[in-house]
Amino acid sequence: MVDMVETKRKSGFKKDLCNLCGECLHKCPVLQLPIEEAKEEIKRLIEGKESKFVLNKCTTCFSCNLYCPQHANPYQLILERWNDLYKKRGAPPLYRFVCPTMQSNIWQLLNVFLSNQERIWIYKWMHYIPKPNDKPLLIGNYTHLFPFIIGGSKLLDYFNPIDRIDQWEGGAYLYQGGYLDAVQNIAVRTKNDFDSWGVKDIFATLDAVEYIFKEVHPKEMGVNHTQNFINFNQWLLDNINSGELILKNQLNLTVTIHDNCYSKALPGAYWEIPREILKKCGCQIIEMKHNRKDSLCCGFGSGASWVKNVSIIFDIISEGMKKFKEAEETGAQALMSYCGGCIYLLWATRELTRSKLDIYHVIEILRMGMGEKLNYPRDHIKRAWDIIAIMTYSLLLSFFNKNFYIKKISYDKDLSTFHPKKKYLLLRIIRYIMDLPLMKILFARGFHFLRIILKSK
Ligand code: SF4
Ligand code: SF4
Repeated sequence: MVDMVETKRKSGFKKDLCNLCGECLHKCPVLQLPIEEAKEEIKRLIEGKESKFVLNKCTTCFSCNLYCPQHANPYQLILERWNDLYKKRGAPPLYRFVCPTMQSNIWQLLNVFLSNQERIWIYKWMHYIPKPNDKPLLIGNYTHLFPFIIGGSKLLDYFNPIDRIDQWEGGAYLYQGGYLDAVQNIAVRTKNDFDSWGVKDIFATLDAVEYIFKEVHPKEMGVNHTQNFINFNQWLLDNINSGELILKNQLNLTVTIHDNCYSKALPGAYWEIPREILKKCGCQIIEMKHNRKDSLCCGFGSGASWVKNVSIIFDIISEGMKKFKEAEETGAQALMSYCGGCIYLLWATRELTRSKLDIYHVIEILRMGMGEKLNYPRDHIKRAWDIIAIMTYSLLLSFFNKNFYIKKISYDKDLSTFHPKKKYLLLRIIRYIMDLPLMKILFARGFHFLRIILKSK
């Protein structure tokens, strides 16, 4: 077990470097505060006084760290203040949805809709225990939702795919919401897991997860991992360049790229690799107005600055719509994500806005380049509506629940994501209705009507 002295948490915000210039919140692509207002707001945040803007509007996009001329990490200050708020008021009821150790979370609910093939993949990934010479590829909580992105691919022959939902992606999405004390517990749990496996190298399908293990756990959570964390996209690019992965097809596709929030965490480290992979596969890239360090959030981050539980899903989709608008304005045929987390919200937003823009994960593009067959877009459209049904069901349930605290990090004997106890009849009815002719259109219209009503309040 990890020594408690080692696990002392340390804020990433460097108060001594901050000169209160306000640049971070002035340049923020969401807030764009006038400079004097920005100076006042950062002062309030540092002093722990009530925030007028940031804690209610920030989309947790990481950009402010790149705007700070002093490298003071204002983003980590925001996370600290959200952590303070969490200690006072808890997490909103809807947040149970993304907590694998709470009933009923998205992974439990999705079991109702998985295909037999998906069950076979996931069961294997969840139950394999790595051996010391293995190369674990952490599939992660998000790719679990769209396992067909990588399931069945020759790419997996190079790895031992592992899927532990209660590793919480190393705490990556909790970190973005400022649930820092929970992230520290996750850091300890994952260290114990990795050490017990005895492996040397670990790969993760998400850049965010690599960043969390390499940077956040040791520097902010006081937990040092001894394993090497290897960037999966870099591995893909290296193996294309070496000729190990053979590209049989040039796709001739115009694409625009969604740079996810975590891609800004190590400036410049994550942006170019997926672009190189896409070019190798014959894609022509047209950049959106906001890209790389200025990129807008997929929407997920708006849930971090929640004020009312009922508005969270509507805020998330509203933010995602801004991204879609920019993507469509480029005239590209497809929107590309290299984050499995963003892609599930982007697909839900696409369906709710009735957009025709194609959306791919960079892994899917590579697989098509390698000549692998995908069931595109049918699998994605079905899964997007599964997730919309789950969001609707979770929102209804949340009216009967209170704010809560994340007490358990690991599953206990009675709770396993893969073995839900209930039949989820209401969820099945909602999903069935969504497949009736015209219901998708009516649901999308109803959703936007509610979104506009809630926004005007
Ligand atoms: S994280 Fe993004 S949205 Fe939040 S304050 Fe910083 S730049 Fe603005
Ligand atoms: S965090 Fe950086 S950009 Fe923001 S006020 Fe301080 S020094 Fe200026």
